[in-house]
Amino acid sequence: MDTIVSLAKRRGFIYPSSELYGGLANAYDYGPLGSELLRNIRNAWWKELIHKRRDMIGLDSSIIVHPQTWVASGHVGSFSDPVVEDTVTQKRYRADHVIEAFISGKDEFADMAVENLTIEEMGTFIKKYDIHSEAGNSLSTPKTFDLLMETKLGSISGEKNTAYMRGETAQGIFLNFKNILDTTRVKLPFGVGQIGKSFRNEVTLGQYIFRTFEFEQAEIEYFFDPEQSDWKELFKAWQDTMWNFVTKTLGINVSNLRWREHTDKERSHYSKQTYDLDYHFPFGWKELWGIAYRTDYDLKQHMKHSGVDLQYIDPYTQKKFIPHVIEPAVGINRLLFMVLCDSYIEEEGRTVLKLPYHIAPYKRAVFPLVSNKPDIMKKAQEVFDMLSEDEHTYWDDRGNIGKRYKYQDEIGTPYCVTIDYQTLEDDSVTVRERDTMKQERVSIADLNKRLSSSL
Ligand code: ATP
Repeated sequence: MDTIVSLAKRRGFIYPSSELYGGLANAYDYGPLGSELLRNIRNAWWKELIHKRRDMIGLDSSIIVHPQTWVASGHVGSFSDPVVEDTVTQKRYRADHVIEAFISGKDEFADMAVENLTIEEMGTFIKKYDIHSEAGNSLSTPKTFDLLMETKLGSISGEKNTAYMRGETAQGIFLNFKNILDTTRVKLPFGVGQIGKSFRNEVTLGQYIFRTFEFEQAEIEYFFDPEQSDWKELFKAWQDTMWNFVTKTLGINVSNLRWREHTDKERSHYSKQTYDLDYHFPFGWKELWGIAYRTDYDLKQHMKHSGVDLQYIDPYTQKKFIPHVIEPAVGINRLLFMVLCDSYIEEEGRTVLKLPYHIAPYKRAVFPLVSNKPDIMKKAQEVFDMLSEDEHTYWDDRGNIGKRYKYQDEIGTPYCVTIDYQTLEDDSVTVRERDTMKQERVSIADLNKRLSSSL
């Protein structure tokens, strides 16, 4: 974990937020490299799960929506975590996490599933085993802690001015369901995908970008007629899609992945089946991507609270009904964290990020051998202009070539291209591959073709 955090900071992937003012817990900024990597992961998700499918469309809804949305969805009042406080320092902890840490490695609790405990049962357990905080102080009785972030909207006065920063992007899809039916030619089954910021008043601190106050979610609501489509088949197909995206598109090692089904007690009351795709993060197996069969709960709730008819009319049979949904929901930041962990390798005295070609922040780097020779600089600029027409290309004319290779290895650039004296004579350059470290001479005319092959 420390190595990843340090590389991410040193090379400009991720900075702790607001460092000038001592930092802000649970908040991070994405630097020049991190913002590129995030964008590439986001674009890969959009391309694979929306553009490449004829049954999927995209959406970009507001972060702040009518507050009634969150009453209808059930978030107001029930979107909360169980929290205990250190009675001396007042530091807060997730009660379930405190219990998990306590039982970890103890045989007598091997079969215990913390996710099945009610908040009262958690309180009893903490009391019974006299569990203390990490500072050694006693803990308060667990209380529920609202995750929805409140904000005030200036233009509305009185009681009604409380609004919420969205706790998930999904509700924006349900709010626009009728708009989509009325303005497009979709027919069931079809899905709507959206990527955007969500906000949660998280209690747990210190898990780096795994859990933050604001994060980017990528959610899909896949609508279908439960009488026409077998939900189990659709669910399985989406699980396969998620698996393929993670293993093939993002190149993640399968031994670091597993499926975990939610128990009956743990599952939300409206969900018929929920699975988590877990990744083996540096602090253990944790949820990366969740998938739930939410039935017709959300549309029904919005229909009830808004009074607007959200039923679908089958264009062939005129049957009128509320579609059901399957929801695969992932955090783009968690995907990025996983990608950093999985691609980080130390070998033969070097550190390499073996990122798949299409998600690497830079695909190629161009090095003029020396920066004080105008002919070489001019030629290198021409090569840079040519390469950056197609792909994001790095420019580095500082220091010796070995150091420049080392830097590109650490940021995951698949190819380095050096322009030297020989280039001026025969228009050839040295291409060096990140993974094999092999070098070969390639003519500039063939360069684009040579570099476009994926690693
Ligand atoms: P967790 O159990 O880890 O809190 P969750 O089950 O509440 O997650 P969902 O509501 O299913 O999460 O959200 C879908 C996805 O959004 C998660 O699988 C995760 O990738 C991401 N996510 C949720 N909360 C956060 C957060 N605070 N920071 C970063 N990503 C998050």
